[in-house]
Amino acid sequence: MKITENKDKDIVKMIRDGLAETGGYCPCRRERTPDTKCMCKEFREQIKDPNYEGYCHCLLYYKSLKD
Ligand code: SF4
Repeated sequence: MKITENKDKDIVKMIRDGLAETGGYCPCRRERTPDTKCMCKEFREQIKDPNYEGYCHCLLYYKSLKD
C-alpha cells in the first residue's frame, strides 16, 4: 500500500492553499471538526480498507494498493 500526492501540481497547489486558509481542515468540507482535519477520518478509513484504491475526497492524495 502506498499514499502519494496527486501528480497534477495545480490540484495539489489549490488544495494546499485551501488547507493553509482553513488551518488544516479539509477545504472540500464545511464542517471543521477533528474528523475533517487533514488527513480526514474518511481518508484514514479508506487507508485502512484493504479493498479501497483511489483518491481522497479532495483529490490531494492517492492510495494505491501496490507498493
Ligand atoms: S485527506 Fe484529502 S479529503 Fe481528507 S482532508 Fe485531506 S485533502 Fe481533504
